[in-house]
Order: sequence, then structure tokens, then C-alpha cells
Amino acid sequence: MRITALAGGVGGARFLRGLKAQLDVVAPESELTVIANTGDDISLFGLRVCPDIDTLLYTLGGGVNEDQGWGRADESTRVQGELAAYGAVPQWFTLGDLDLGTHIVRSQWLAQGQTASEVTERLATRWGLPDRGIRLLPMTDTPVETHVVLDEGDEQRAVHFQEWWVRLRAEVPASRFVVAGLDRAAAAPGVLDAIRTADVIVLPPSNPVVSIGIILGVPGVRDALRGSTAPVVGVSPLISGRPVRGHADACLSAIGVESSAAAVAGLYADFLDGWLVDPADAGVRVRGVEVATHSAPLLMTDVPTTAAMAAELLALAERVRR
Ligand code: GDP
Ligand code: CA
Repeated sequence: MRITALAGGVGGARFLRGLKAQLDVVAPESELTVIANTGDDISLFGLRVCPDIDTLLYTLGGGVNEDQGWGRADESTRVQGELAAYGAVPQWFTLGDLDLGTHIVRSQWLAQGQTASEVTERLATRWGLPDRGIRLLPMTDTPVETHVVLDEGDEQRAVHFQEWWVRLRAEVPASRFVVAGLDRAAAAPGVLDAIRTADVIVLPPSNPVVSIGIILGVPGVRDALRGSTAPVVGVSPLISGRPVRGHADACLSAIGVESSAAAVAGLYADFLDGWLVDPADAGVRVRGVEVATHSAPLLMTDVPTTAAMAAELLALAERVRR
């Protein structure tokens, strides 16, 4: 079975780790292709940092800090301490010492002329992903960056997505998101093919606006999903109208969409076939379109619980298969 997923960082990675555990039991020959959001990418201290790809690498590769959900286990921040001693800015973005190894090698390979796809493949190989049937693709090889236009009354100011998310904790209302470079970006090699040739397409509970929403803006991706004959099934990142972690509600309000499991499904209505919601949201209807909904506990507390959630999603995919 060929499964293709679109993913952001923590929510996407946690779900896909559970999905992979489930596939190892029920369909060990499966191939999982993960198309990762790169809108969160940022250059810091001359290094290219790709937070969502790194979270996917560390989580699927067994090296993530479990409590945080991102960054490396057994991490230290001695280098960042030195940067602070020099008065170097910014200091609001955590750069762990082991994590810096990833950013340094990525930046070097990019500077040597390798594409983001090639670099990601080399990083994924170190983490053992290809050997386990997981292919990790950046959504595009073109550098793109999500910027947030802040709503500060008369003044309009845009900041990098990371600054809004990490430094401002999404507390300053966003009036809109602008993805620099996205209109000129092309889907990375393999991305559109992975959608067209999949047996099942999965939307993990990633942020619908700044993770999945950005991938959907890559030219050709949304059309490929609309044209797909494989079932497209997704997991709600919201339970009872609230994100399980992060500030998805602030992102939804910026684009004028209500914070609810049904409204998130509505964002995917033109290609979605099945939608998994928490029992707290059982019975929700996606307005105006035919999307089969099913409820199952959606808290990803550990790998077995998440694998059970993935099993429900795969069963839903079979049910809605056209
Ligand atoms: P990010 O890039 O690190 O922000 O991660 P993603 O975009 O992949 O995922 C963020 C989303 O994951 C948030 O909107 C959360 O609500 C959602 N999320 C995190 N943990 C859980 C969970 O246990 N269950 C569900 N259903 N959603 C979760
Ligand atoms: Ca992210």
C-alpha cells in the first residue's frame, strides 16, 4: 500500500509515527511518503533551519525530545549561551547543540548547490527513514517563508512566522498570512506523483492554516488532490473547538474561519472524503459537502494510542474508497 501524507511539525510527526507503527503490524510492505511544510523555514546566524522537517526527522527517526515534541532528546544549549554572551540576536528561537549539527550540515550542503530535496534525503538517511519505507519530501525546493501581517490598529507590520509563533506566542492578532515565494515555487520532485499514485492520502492533525494550508498553496498540489482517485482522509487537530497544543485557533481566526472540527474539514471540502473527529465532536457535519465522519479518541498520548487512531483512519479510508 502506498500512503502519502501532508505534514507540519509536532502534530504531523506524532501522528505519522503512530501510523507507521500500525502499518508495521498490518501492512509491513507499505511505503509512506511524507510531504513536509517548509513555510516555517528561517535563516538564523547564517544557517538554514527547517523546523517541520527537523521535527519529522527526529520523531520518525527516534531522536526527538518526547516532552517537547520537537528538538533532540538529551539536548544542551551551550552554543546558544555563547551567542548570548556575544549579544547575538535573535535569542527567542531555541537552537540546541545537537540540533545545530543538523542546521550546519544542511546549510553546507545547500551552499554546495544541493537542492532541499537532496539535502532532506541525506538527512533522512542518517535517521534511517528510507530503510523503514519512509520517504520525506520537502513540499518545494524553492525557499519560501510564511510571514504574518500583524493587526496593530493603523500600523501594518509583518514578521516572520516563527517570530509571531515563538516570540509573540501568537498573542498579537494576525490579520493575514503571506507566503513569500510560494507563487513562484514548484512542487519538489516526487510530490505531485506521490499524490497521484497513492492508494490512500492522509492529512494528520497538523495546523490547517500554517502547515497543511501552506502545502496546499504549492502550485499543483491542490489540483492533484482534487483529481486523486484514492481516498483522502484526515484527522481533526481540534477537540471541542480547541487545538490540542499550539495556536491553531489564532490562525483560523486570522483567515475568518471558526475554530471547530467541522470548519477545519470545510477548508479541505473540495478533496476530502473522510474526517476523523474526537468523541467530543461526534455527530458534527461538514457543511455543504459529503464527507464521511467517524469518531475515535484523538489524543496522541503515546505510540500505541496513536497507532489505534491511525487504524481508525485507515478503516475510514476503506469505507470511503470510491
Ligand atoms: P507544528 O508545525 O509543530 O505546529 O505541528 P503541526 O502543524 O504538524 O501540528 C500542530 C497541530 O497538532 C495543532 O493544531 C494541535 O492541535 C495538533 N495536535 C497536537 N497534539 C495533538 C493530539 O494529541 N491530538 C490531535 N487531534 N491533535 C493534536
Ligand atoms: Ca510548523
